[in-house]
Amino acid sequence: MKKIQMVDLKGQYQAIKEQVDSSIQNIIENTSFINGPEVHQFQKELEEYLGVKHVIPCANGTDALQIAMMGLGLKPGDEVITADFTFAATVEVIALLNLTPVLVDVDPVSYNIDTDAIKAAITPKTKAIVPVHLFGQTANMDEILEIAKEHNLYVIEDNAQAIGANYHFNDGSTKKTGTIGDVGTTSFFPSKNLGAYGDGGAIFTNNDELAHTIRGIVNHGMYERYHHDVVGVNSRLDSFQAAVLRAKLPLLDKYNDARRNSAKLYSEELKENENIEVPEIIGSDDTHVFHQYTIKVKNGKRDELAKVFQENNLPFGIYYPIPLHLQKAYKDERYDEDKFTVTNQLVKEVISLPMHTELEEEQIKLITSIINKTV
Ligand SMILES: *Cc1c(COP(=O)(O)O)cnc(C)c1O
Repeated sequence: MKKIQMVDLKGQYQAIKEQVDSSIQNIIENTSFINGPEVHQFQKELEEYLGVKHVIPCANGTDALQIAMMGLGLKPGDEVITADFTFAATVEVIALLNLTPVLVDVDPVSYNIDTDAIKAAITPKTKAIVPVHLFGQTANMDEILEIAKEHNLYVIEDNAQAIGANYHFNDGSTKKTGTIGDVGTTSFFPSKNLGAYGDGGAIFTNNDELAHTIRGIVNHGMYERYHHDVVGVNSRLDSFQAAVLRAKLPLLDKYNDARRNSAKLYSEELKENENIEVPEIIGSDDTHVFHQYTIKVKNGKRDELAKVFQENNLPFGIYYPIPLHLQKAYKDERYDEDKFTVTNQLVKEVISLPMHTELEEEQIKLITSIINKTV
């Protein structure tokens, strides 16, 4: 059996090696390192894949979130509601821009932002909601859009973990996650579902004016060469990363299928275990792209399981071990501990199992047999 890895990028590379190697060689020959044709072509191909008018590539997923918020013109003191259970980048950029982060609890089944908690957190200062499609499962966008409409709020989708997922609206229509709100963002960090071989990110929108504003912001606030109309940043996707992403984009649906198949097998093998709660797919299969396969270990047995994983040299992840509202950087006396019952519980129960596009049946069976023997 191959060594079990949390993510196997080397195995995945074998199938795209020729294309990746030759396009990287090409970029070196052309010295088109920055803003080269690969970046432009990748942008067009991703727009087509997502069915969105504008993709603006940038340097990473954290920048993408920050730039999206700058583009919307959010001002210091504006309140931005997001999930207590997510990667810190989501809340970090809110704080960096001197906006006020308002963390709210999540749903215990989907792990995504709780829409009742959003409603309860709205004040006259609220300007935006940032749902995160956590672990690859789409958030409840029908309700989030409705709340946003009623209170005149922007919706910024953090789609770093769910690229390729479909959201099916109550009216029967379907859109790719990241293209539903006013603006969406993603990360091409190597381990993400569409990962580069370094850092990368992108912003998505169907709004022409916002796209124009954002294209200037990523480029030092320039709309005309050496005319700086707004304070911007320098945030670019480099040509090497775009070339890797171009090789992978046509395979993204296949990659996500492979993740879903692994998830199915995991769940099948674990479903009889009374101490384990396997992830539930909310809606049809294509709404979840399993960036992570995260189970809950009940009855206080999570840490025991983690220890056995370590002893067996099996990789795992605890995403996330501390709720954001308890992190030193984001503590706020306004938070009421009773309002975070789900996150406070999840951080004690979750464990993410190896998940990638090259996972093999016998590897999953070994992992699940160890779990079933332990808890
Ligand atoms: C990875 C991730 C980010 C940040 O992406 P980077 O490219 O590492 O900056 C933001 N939000 C979520 C939910 C993520 O998982």
